[in-house]
Parts: sequence; structure tokens; C-alpha cells
Amino acid sequence: MKRISLLSPRLANQIAAGEVVERPASVVKELVENSIDAGATRVDIDVESGGVKLIKIRDNGSGILKDDLALALSRHATSKITELEDLEAVASLGFRGEALASISSVSRLSLTANTEGQTEAWSVRVEGRDMEPVLSPASHPTGTTIEVRDLFYNTPARRKFLRTEKTEFGHLEEVIKRIALSHFDINFQLRHNQRVIHQLRSAHSALEKDRRVATVCGPAFLEQAVCIDAQAGDMRLWGWVGLPTFSRSQADLQFFFVNGRVIRDKLVSHAVRQAYRDVLYNGRHPAFVLYLELDPAGVDVNVHPTKHEVRFRDSRAVHNFLFSQLHHALAEVSPEHHLISQN
Ligand code: ADP
Ligand code: MG
Repeated sequence: MKRISLLSPRLANQIAAGEVVERPASVVKELVENSIDAGATRVDIDVESGGVKLIKIRDNGSGILKDDLALALSRHATSKITELEDLEAVASLGFRGEALASISSVSRLSLTANTEGQTEAWSVRVEGRDMEPVLSPASHPTGTTIEVRDLFYNTPARRKFLRTEKTEFGHLEEVIKRIALSHFDINFQLRHNQRVIHQLRSAHSALEKDRRVATVCGPAFLEQAVCIDAQAGDMRLWGWVGLPTFSRSQADLQFFFVNGRVIRDKLVSHAVRQAYRDVLYNGRHPAFVLYLELDPAGVDVNVHPTKHEVRFRDSRAVHNFLFSQLHHALAEVSPEHHLISQN
């Protein structure tokens, strides 16, 4: 007699999907990151009903070979790393080979792609847990279009946790903002129920970047922020630091990127809080858009499946660098702050 049996791969994916796919916004994050990893310069995101009914993402990246299409949907299938050593210096946003497997196990998904050199496009479709992927010829320029319909249609317990269309779209829009602020060179369009919500042209010059920041964070932030750009060893910190006069009642305008990846990190938050400590009233929150760049080997991104957390090899150096640069920038614009901190 036996009581233990192996889960079917798709059931295992559905269970694992809980880690990566929480709501439409997390699907959009994973898919747009895939487009970026594929070298796309234009990504169009179309959603219906807050993304619950449909998320459609079209890019002009490298596309996927016909023979890789079905494989791309299986767990631990990735083109981004092959050796354990690759993890040490991973530069792509994805690498775990989990997103498509997870998403396809809890939705109706189709993936259509064409590559440079392939004579025709192909499409693969899966639905639910037990269906084998179905391949069919399609029409598509070089690049990829992915359609995710009816998220959680086969996992009612998960679907129950979804909020209103408006709330879900709000989360999704946040994701797009973060990505737009970390990839200035990419054109993004976000449409909701056929209406264009954000149209962001690629930004190369400082002026164009300012414009994108103003579009994403609001013009008032840009008017009340100082630019910083500082280097120490192999670390660089640059971006926009909101003046104390632009403090907020909520921590809703705080963007921190490490090597192009959005992160939420205790160490980073602590350094920022310390730097603003003397210039902000209690209960007020600073606004900032900051980019930390450092040797990928100095930061571990493989801490959590959503990759929101990181671990710095030399966390003390990172903390000191952040604090001193921000403190310096704020002292320059508010002289009293300088005095207070020197006493
Ligand atoms: P990961 O991004 O961790 O590699 P995913 O499940 O997100 O895993 O994707 C699996 C693979 O499918 C990727 O490694 C990549 O080769 C391919 N892929 C997914 N989306 C795209 C895309 N938009 N353009 C090109 N290739 C893609
Ligand atoms: Mg991915």
C-alpha cells in the first residue's frame, strides 16, 4: 500500500504560483520583465477589467523559437542562466524559469512569437492544469505577444482575494510606473479597457528623463527635487531627491532601484530615513527616485521569488554611501540641516 504520490507537474506549478502570482499586477511585472530581458524597445500593455479578464503584452524583443515555445511554459525552463555560477552575476531580471509556468497554470494563456530568421510565427496555447500545450502557426513580426485570460479561473480560493477592478488596476499601474522609471530607453503604452492611460516615449536626454519622471511622479515632485549623481568605488547613486518641502503623508512616491531592479529593503529604507531625519516632521514621508548601481557580484537577488529583496555583500558600505550622499544633498538645499547635524 502507498499513501505518497508525486504531484503532477501542473498541480505543482499551481501550488508554486502562489509565490509569484498574487494578482494581475504580479503577472504584468513578470511579463514586462521578460520583454525587457528579450531586448524590447517597445512594450504595449493592454488590460481589461483590472487585468483579471485579460492581460495582453506585446513586445518587439528577440522573440521565442518555435521549438522553445512549449518549453518556455514549463517550470525551471530559462534561457538566462545555465550554471550555478551564473547566479553570482545575474544581470537579467528573470532567471528562475518560473513565471510562465506559474501564470499558465492559473489562467488561459497563449504565447505568440517570431524571431529574426524564422520564416513564420508560432503560437502556443495552454489552459488550466491538465492540458498539453497546443502549437499552431500564427502571424507576428519579430517579438512576442502574450495573452493571459481569466486569471485564477481554476483556483477560486485565489480569485476570492482579488479586489475591485479599480484597486487591481491601481496595483498594476504602480508596477508600470516602477518599470518605466527603471527603463527610460523603452517605449511603454498602458491601456485599460481600450483607453490609453500612459503613453511613455523612450527618454534619452536629461530633459526627456525629467519629462518621464514628471509624467510618472507628477510635475510638482520634479519642481521640488534635486538631482544627485555620486560615485564611490564601484558604487554609483543617482536620481531625484525630493526636498523636505515636498514631504508626503504617505510613503507613496518612493522608488529605489538596484541595478535596474525595484527593491524594498530595510537597510536602504533605514539609510534614507536617517538622512531625512532632521529635516522632516514626524509622520511625513520623503519622496525620491533613486538608482544604486554596483557590481552585480556585490548583491544577491536570489533571496525571494518576487526578487523584491536583495542582500548586499558589503551592507555597511552601501548604508554609509547612501546615507552620506543623501545627507549631503539635503544639507546643500537646507542649510539649517547642515548646522543641526554638525552639532
Ligand atoms: P525566466 O524569465 O526566469 O527565464 P520565465 O518563465 O519568465 O522565466 O520565461 C521562460 C523563458 O521564456 C525565458 O527564459 C525566455 O527564454 C522566454 N521568454 C519569456 N517571455 C519572453 C519574451 N517576451 N520574449 C522572449 N523570450 C521570452
Ligand atoms: Mg521571467
